[in-house]
Amino acid sequence: MADLYGPEVRSRVMSRIRKTDSGPEVRLRKALYALGVRGWRLRAKLPGTPDLVFTKARVAVFVDGCFWHACPRCAIPRPRSNRRYWNPKIDRNVARDKRVGKELRALGWRVVRIWEHQIVRDPRSCAGKVLARLQLPESGSSPSRRQTASSSSAR
Ligand SMILES: [Zn+2]
Repeated sequence: MADLYGPEVRSRVMSRIRKTDSGPEVRLRKALYALGVRGWRLRAKLPGTPDLVFTKARVAVFVDGCFWHACPRCAIPRPRSNRRYWNPKIDRNVARDKRVGKELRALGWRVVRIWEHQIVRDPRSCAGKVLARLQLPESGSSPSRRQTASSSSAR
């Protein structure tokens, strides 16, 4: 196929393409794969468009960029120029993250949010966090519930 753009224009076009394969997300997927986790779907149509979705286990995973989602640990300074543009944009992201989490939980989803810096530092433990969530028993068959049920019937 012919290259329609010169390198400069093309890189500008590319940068606008949705970051489906952003670095941290790919690293997380690789770490999950290494742990034997399979069967996620990408960007399912759910509130907030989670990055990875496990439909059967009803687990939604978000990978949050530390800058865009105002990670408190990294506390990346917002650009001084154009504050009127950046501040509301980032604040909106943070507000939306909260709202989306509530919406998903109300729909019966478990939500896992992972910061970009956590994946950069230790993708394996991030994958482990997701795996732990996947292995949680369904709420209907949790041992604590069964215990409560049997102890009440013993009375
Ligand atoms: Zn961070």
